[in-house]
Amino acid sequence: MWASRQIPPKDHASFIRDARDYALVNGIVLRCDPININCVAHLPFTLFPSPYPNELYQECLNIQPVVNRLMLGIANDTSFMNDTLRPIAQVDDFTKNLLDINDAVRREGLAQPIISCISRADYMLDTAPNAAQNEFRLRQVEVNAIASAMSPHSDQVAKLHDFLMTKYDVKMPAATISRPDNTSLATVVGGLVEAFDKYGKSSACILLVNEDLNRNLADQFKVELELTKMRPDIKFVRRPFLSLPDMIRLGPNKELLLEETREVAVVYFRYCYDPSHYSSSRAWDARLLMERSRAIKCPSINFHLAGAKKFQEVLNNQAKLERYLQPAEAQRLENVFCKFWSFKDCSDSDEGYKLATSESVGLVLKPQREGGGNNIYGRDIRPFVEKIAKTEAISQYILMEYIDAPLEKNWVVSQGDGSVSDSVRLDECDRLVSELGIYGAILADANTSLVESNKSGGYLVRSKRFGVNEGGVASGHAGISSLILVDGFQAADEFSLYYVKVVT
Ligand code: ADP
Ligand code: MG
Repeated sequence: MWASRQIPPKDHASFIRDARDYALVNGIVLRCDPININCVAHLPFTLFPSPYPNELYQECLNIQPVVNRLMLGIANDTSFMNDTLRPIAQVDDFTKNLLDINDAVRREGLAQPIISCISRADYMLDTAPNAAQNEFRLRQVEVNAIASAMSPHSDQVAKLHDFLMTKYDVKMPAATISRPDNTSLATVVGGLVEAFDKYGKSSACILLVNEDLNRNLADQFKVELELTKMRPDIKFVRRPFLSLPDMIRLGPNKELLLEETREVAVVYFRYCYDPSHYSSSRAWDARLLMERSRAIKCPSINFHLAGAKKFQEVLNNQAKLERYLQPAEAQRLENVFCKFWSFKDCSDSDEGYKLATSESVGLVLKPQREGGGNNIYGRDIRPFVEKIAKTEAISQYILMEYIDAPLEKNWVVSQGDGSVSDSVRLDECDRLVSELGIYGAILADANTSLVESNKSGGYLVRSKRFGVNEGGVASGHAGISSLILVDGFQAADEFSLYYVKVVT
C-alpha cells in the first residue's frame, strides 16, 4: 500500500531526475525557445498515476461513440446550426466566417460527402449535492472537435509512471483494479487511416496543418511516426497554415493539390481553431478552398462548428438530445451534463443574468472559443457581465455550473528553472484536480448521416493545482498524468490519502 511507504521515496532526487530524463528521452516535450528551434523541454507531468473510479471511467469510454454521433447529428443539421449560431455570428466574426464557409460549401454542393472528426471529450469528477463524502459523478467539461491534442504524450506518461513505480518499488493502492491500456494514439491514427482509405487513392497524401513555429512538435510528429509505422504506404506531410495560401489549389475535379501536383486525401487540422490563426483574408480563403475540395477534412467545417460550446447549453437535456439520439442514449448523456444558462434580455426575470450577477462563485462564463485562456471564473463574472449586459456581445457567452472536483494528492513536475538544484526540488504535496479526456474518431456521410466508422479509445489525464482555473498542459497550467482504476473511492481507507473532499 502506498500509505505505508514514504511517498515519494527518500532518495527523491534520483526519482525526479529519472522522471525528467524519461520524459526527455521519450519525447514528452515541447519547443521551449522561439529563437533556437532545436531546443526542447519536457512537458509538465505528475509523479504518480491518478486513481479514478473504474465504473465512471468505463462510462466515459462507453458513451464516446454516442458523443461522436451527437456531434454528427449537430454537424449535419444545417438549419439548426444556423438558428443556434447566427445570433452569435452577429457579434463574433470568427463564428460568422466558419458558418459562412459551411453554408458556401453546402450551396455549391459537397465535393466530398465523407466527413470525419477526431474528438476528445473532457470530464471532471463532481461532488453531487447532498452526496456522501467520496461519492462522485461525472461531468462533461466540453468536447474538442478540432485539434484534439496530446494523444502520444498520454500514453508515454503512463509508461513513465510504470517505469518509476517498478524501479522504486512503489505499490499500487490496494483497491486497484487495473492500469487501463492507453490506446489514444491508435484511435487518432486509426481515424486518419480510415479516412485515407475511404478517399481511395493510394498515391495521395495526408496533410497535417499546423502553426508556423510549431511548439507542439513532438505531439504532432509522433502521430506521423505512428501512422507511417502502421502504414508505410501512406505519405504524410506537415505544413504551416500560413504557408498554405501559396501552396494549394483545386484540380479539375476539385482535388486538393499541394505544391502543384501532390493530391491531398485527408486534411488533418491541428490548427485553425482560434481567430488569431487567421492572420489575413488569404488564410480564410485557404480554409474555404480546403473545405470546397474533394479531400476529406478532419474535422470538416461542420464538425468543427458542432464543437461550439453553445450546443452544450442548447442541447442540455434528454428531450433535446433525442433530436439526434435514442432515448436511452440521450439519458446517459444527460446524466453527465452540467447545468447551463444563456442570457436573454438581462432583465430581472432573466435567470442566467440573475445568477451571473448574484451567485457567480459556483459558475464559469464561456465564450465560443477553444484552446484555453478564454473563460471567466467565479467572482470575475459579475463585473464582466454587468459591463456587457446591455450589448449584443453578451449573446456569445454561456454560463456553466462550476464542477466541484475532488482533490488528489500528487506532485506536478514542471520545468522549473532548469538548474540542477531546481530540477530535483519537490514542493509540498500538491493538491491537484484532474480532468479526464476520452478520444474518439468518426467517419460518416454528410448527406445521409450514414456512419462508416465510429470508434473510441484511449485517454488523457491532466492534473492541475487546486485553485488554478485553466487546465492546459502546453500553457503550463497542468501536468499530464495516467490512470489507476480503482473500485470506488469508499472501498479503501488509503484513498483518504489521495482524495479529500473539496471544502470551498
Ligand atoms: P477550452 O476550450 O479553452 O479548453 P474548457 O471549457 O475546456 O475550454 O475550459 C478550460 C479549463 O477550465 C478546463 O480544462 C477546466 O480545467 C476548467 N473548467 C472549464 N469548465 C469548468 C467547470 N464548469 N467547472 C470547473 N472547471 C472548469
Ligand atoms: Mg478544454
